[in-house]
Amino acid sequence: MNLSVRIFIALVLAVIVGLIAGEPAVPFIKWWIAPIGTIFINLIKMMIVPVVITSLVVGMTSLGDTKKLGRIGIKTVALYLLTTAVAIGIGFVVAGIVQPGVGLGLANESAVKVKEAPSIMQVFVSMIPANPVDAMAKAQILPCIVFALFVGVGIIQVGGERAQLLIRFFDACAETCYKIIGMVMQLAPIGVFCLLLPVVASNGPSVLLPLLSVIICVAVGCIIHALAVYSTMARVLGKMSPMKFFRGMSEAMLIAFTTCSSSAALPVNIKNCQEKLGLSREVSSFVLPLGATINMDGTALYQGVCALFIANVYGIDLSIGQMGMILLAGTLGSIGTAGVPGAGLLMLAMVLTTVGLPIEGLGLVAGIDRVLDMFRTCLNITGDGAVCCVINESEKEQGDVA
Ligand code: ASP
Repeated sequence: MNLSVRIFIALVLAVIVGLIAGEPAVPFIKWWIAPIGTIFINLIKMMIVPVVITSLVVGMTSLGDTKKLGRIGIKTVALYLLTTAVAIGIGFVVAGIVQPGVGLGLANESAVKVKEAPSIMQVFVSMIPANPVDAMAKAQILPCIVFALFVGVGIIQVGGERAQLLIRFFDACAETCYKIIGMVMQLAPIGVFCLLLPVVASNGPSVLLPLLSVIICVAVGCIIHALAVYSTMARVLGKMSPMKFFRGMSEAMLIAFTTCSSSAALPVNIKNCQEKLGLSREVSSFVLPLGATINMDGTALYQGVCALFIANVYGIDLSIGQMGMILLAGTLGSIGTAGVPGAGLLMLAMVLTTVGLPIEGLGLVAGIDRVLDMFRTCLNITGDGAVCCVINESEKEQGDVA
């Protein structure tokens, strides 16, 4: 049986068992089952920093010259930002139709501890690692990416025999990483089951029902975005059948869905884009790690839905200007959002503050954030794959990649 089918069965089983077992089983599940999920997550996390550094360096050095790198970089970032802005728009439309939160009454003031969202300048400063080893140790992906970019450019500038030595070294390291990820993925069905069971058992249907309309909006919005935007991108710009695209992406999507982390899904995403979608190594090794940190279509869509939901709950009418602000803040904010569980909630705090919506509304969303996170993370990494297809095809047309 193929791996994504096995992961999917594990996912369905976890939901069924979790709903049947419910609240009384939570202590047992937390004690005996959840740690196995944590082991699986740790195994994946173990590979994040090595894979980001080595694959980026390989991607860049195989692009060969800095001009080409700049061209691909600009195209990639532009596409990432564009799809993110479209995602927020879809969030607005879906939430505008469903109108979640209307008639729910004012939220109870369940206080959520919200850290102050960083300013744009702070994001830029924190992108540059004062000490790359420290950034690696703390698994701060954006600084690691910046460091890897410099190493890649440095190697290209050195050129010749000495550069070849390093290129071969990083290439072998990246290959080793992919092999290890392959081994870890064999455990994915067990890992996914153990990760999801505690979430379902402790949240149960009772927590989810009152906020079902928000969950439906985010889920439906994600599906629309994936089917309309990514299918079109894959077919028209990437010259790939959407069927093949989604099938190739399915394992990474399921990992994203269960781990709620783009970074955790990144190793699998790189491996599958190369092996199942046949995307070139140089493009995918560069585009995907970048996307895992700066491209967050699902998170952006969720901002649109939640902002409207919170406005509805508090009986506030959002003006077109405010919606424009949400679009801008959400799109730019996604660059600084880490691909880790719950990061989107922090970004939502920033968006709410930007447009002057009550920050207490976060209390409502926080309760179901984990469930929303599953859908948005799944969309986040699918978007990375879609952009990668497009860039790969356009570089192929230029005759620059195989
Ligand atoms: N969990 C998301 C991700 O890793 C970020 C978010 O919380 O929206 O892509």
